[in-house]
Amino acid sequence: MPKVIGLTGGIASGKSTVSELLTAHGFKVVDADIASRQAVGKGTKGLTRVKEVFGDEAIDEDGNMNRSYVGEVIFNQPEKRLILNEIVHPIVRDIMEKEKAIYLGQGYNVIMDIPLLFENDLQETVDEVWLVYTSESIQIDRLMERNDLSMEEAKARVYSQISIDKKRRMADHVIDNRDTKLELKQNLEDLLLEEGYIESDTEEAQ
Ligand code: ATP
Repeated sequence: MPKVIGLTGGIASGKSTVSELLTAHGFKVVDADIASRQAVGKGTKGLTRVKEVFGDEAIDEDGNMNRSYVGEVIFNQPEKRLILNEIVHPIVRDIMEKEKAIYLGQGYNVIMDIPLLFENDLQETVDEVWLVYTSESIQIDRLMERNDLSMEEAKARVYSQISIDKKRRMADHVIDNRDTKLELKQNLEDLLLEEGYIESDTEEAQ
């Protein structure tokens, strides 16, 4: 039976890097960030709902969601964030479930890449949870570097999530990403071997 694995971590802990490695091992990845963008894509019902709640300024001149405007509104008015989530989350879930069902039907093991899996209480929607772990200080360093942020900005983003050490205790398996990318690859392969997804001399999933 193919498995459904929830892949999560903290911001900049290395989920995308791990997703790419898993794809190379034959897993299919369903990405929550991509689904969230599709949910409010140009011409969608989702975007029409956003316009009804946030006004015409929520749409830019090309007909896409004006992310910086909507982002600013929900930052200043937390109740609007809840409304946005009520619009977007069910659509995202629907997109992801459909994608998952297709891959499972084709016999693939599926990775549900969900950054806020624990924050949104989605543990029960997957067979098991794998967490990409790194320390908070490394998260902050990598985030500053990748997004060109100040220390304060990076800290604010990291501290807005459930702490990675708490998430670590809730996960079924932990993939350590405190060291180099080469070490990460090795740690992931150790897990895949342990869980029977690959054999010691071949590296095929399924
Ligand atoms: P987000 O939640 O913000 O989307 P993420 O968890 O998907 O992030 P990645 O984008 O994979 O994280 O990694 C964050 C940054 O850290 C990237 O620039 C990536 O290249 C870098 N990175 C990841 N792992 C390592 C590592 N072991 N050593 C050095 N840099 C790394």
